[in-house]
Amino acid sequence: MKIKKGDTVLIVSGKDRGRKGKVLKVFPEERKILVEGINLRKKHQRPRRTGEKGQVITLPTPIDVSNLKLICPKCGKATRVGFKIVENKKFRVCKKCGQEI
Ligand SMILES: [Zn+2]
Repeated sequence: MKIKKGDTVLIVSGKDRGRKGKVLKVFPEERKILVEGINLRKKHQRPRRTGEKGQVITLPTPIDVSNLKLICPKCGKATRVGFKIVENKKFRVCKKCGQEI
């Protein structure tokens, strides 16, 4: 996966298009990403104990990685990610500015 936890991403399609958020979790098998504050869904929570009220909570739900672009922390642009290998270590590089990210 080209996107990692803690990255900042730009949403490029769907109802949250144009918004930015921080990656909370990556699901490599599903190729989905959970982004803070993005793709919020309402969830009804049942009361756990008698006397408690059920409540509606909003939670971000994962979105497809193809709907995201990484924002490069070095140049601040939404970019594609490339890779380079130096001494058997894999580094991500920004396609816009060429810096390791
Ligand atoms: Zn860059």
